[in-house]
Amino acid sequence: RPAATTRPFDGHGRTADGHDVELLANVGDPTSAEAAEAANAQGVGLFRTEFCFLDRTEEPGIEEQAAAYGKVLAHFPGKKVVIRTLDAGADKPMPFVVADDEVNPALGVRGLRTSRHAPEVLDHQLAAIAQAAADHEADVWVMAPMVATVEETEAFVAACGRYGLTRAGVMVEVPSAALLSGPILARATFASLGTNDLTQYAMAADRLLGSLAELSDPWQPAVLRLVEATCAGGAQQSRPVGVCGEAAADPALAVVLVGLGVTSLSMTPRALGEVAAVLQATDLQACRELAGAALAAESAADARSRVREALPVLA
Ligand code: PEP
Ligand code: MG
Repeated sequence: RPAATTRPFDGHGRTADGHDVELLANVGDPTSAEAAEAANAQGVGLFRTEFCFLDRTEEPGIEEQAAAYGKVLAHFPGKKVVIRTLDAGADKPMPFVVADDEVNPALGVRGLRTSRHAPEVLDHQLAAIAQAAADHEADVWVMAPMVATVEETEAFVAACGRYGLTRAGVMVEVPSAALLSGPILARATFASLGTNDLTQYAMAADRLLGSLAELSDPWQPAVLRLVEATCAGGAQQSRPVGVCGEAAADPALAVVLVGLGVTSLSMTPRALGEVAAVLQATDLQACRELAGAALAAESAADARSRVREALPVLA
């Protein structure tokens, strides 16, 4: 959980020994983009585009989409902005792409899967993103949610290429994508771990169900092993692997993620200062050792306490 009080962030994430870790913000609209800019985020690691259009029953036009994306890009001239294509479905119903009669919407046609029956919606969105990118000077990266296979990665990267969007990546939030990160990252430019859904699908525990909170915990060693597997694929292909789920905003877990090989962390803007401070007090070797300790734990509680006890800066 991010701290309630905010600590200032100087705009350059790094460990005590100077290993760079990009600290980015999660945004969903121009207001949160303004907060991210004010918090000195190094860019945007997750722009949840569906948040711009949640109340819609019809697909927004290309011009309207380009204008909405441009309002966010305008806050980050020269900086990296990772735009996620519509993550419709499950807890975010959008009638123009998702059927409302699925028995298990979290396992249904959501995220990139909606482009199976509505490829034109993805095409229109990529056209709008390309237009917004041309109108603004931000460094635009594009990624797809809910990718499960190499074929889906290939299709998405090809679609981005048709609109001149060369930085095309995937979210790793389905365990199959974590396990296939090598071949996936042979096709995609980058990966971003969505630890909220990755935890939900690895633990088979609905992320919205409070009664399963101890399972819906990214400190679960099984989830950490999937993060490790994803980073191994990234290292093998020399591709960056970020984290944009809530896990990135937990300072102790951020240290573990960096130790596992994650290259950027994207979070709610108010968590940036706290995460930056803990990283800056910890050298890379210590991050790696703490990652090893967390991976060796047999429970989430054990992993969390092993790391927190070894990080006096958190006291
Ligand atoms: C995630 O699943 O971790 C993620 C960042 O995406 P969302 O929370 O929007 O599903
Ligand atoms: Mg997700």
